[in-house]
Amino acid sequence: MTVEADLAIAWLRATAVSVAGRADELTRLDAAIGDGDHGVNLNRGFTAVVAALDAGSFPDAAAVFVKAGTTLISKVGGASGPLYGSAFRALGKALPPGPGVTPADLVAGLHAALEAVRKLGGAEPGDATMVDAWRPAADAFEAAVAGGSGLPVAAAEAARAAEEGARATIDLQARKGRASYLGERSVGHQDPGATSTALIFKALADVAA
Ligand code: ADP
Ligand code: MG
Repeated sequence: MTVEADLAIAWLRATAVSVAGRADELTRLDAAIGDGDHGVNLNRGFTAVVAALDAGSFPDAAAVFVKAGTTLISKVGGASGPLYGSAFRALGKALPPGPGVTPADLVAGLHAALEAVRKLGGAEPGDATMVDAWRPAADAFEAAVAGGSGLPVAAAEAARAAEEGARATIDLQARKGRASYLGERSVGHQDPGATSTALIFKALADVAA
């Protein structure tokens, strides 16, 4: 199973549906330690991504991800828009052009996306950000592919790791973004961005299954 433009579009559509359904929950998490707009931000962003994908035609998965990233950067005002936008742009740019993108290509792409987030936001693992879900997801995806698994299994492993990583942010003190202003009082709260990253990887697992 390869990652063609159709699958990339299906992933982003599934993400948009999931984000819309969980927007209130994401916003509630952000209200506790930030400014209460994460669900609104991402819902606006992924709604715009779906509209942009509907309006265009795309030769390959790389072009789909670059378009999604550019759209997120331009449509989302909060920190998460540029961060996720850079992630998807980096993912697209890391993939070989044309059909037949393999799970191994996606390993490189997911790591490139992570590096883009870290370069832009400066977050280290353990800072209680989306990095704490994205990194274990990319690592789990890589390990599954290295072990010979195809896309469905690798994506399921990544989704499980992202979910665990997001839950583990409850015990971490936020050191980047608005939640860091709370200092130690951010401990005990799950990071909204790590939570949305888990939704993104669950959406991939669902469309790959
Ligand atoms: P804002 O903080 O501007 O209101 P959002 O509420 O949409 O933006 O997104 C907040 C999420 O963005 C956080 O939960 C965190 O996961 C992520 N985030 C914020 N700053 C950074 C950063 N410097 N690096 C990585 N992720 C970050
Ligand atoms: Mg916010």
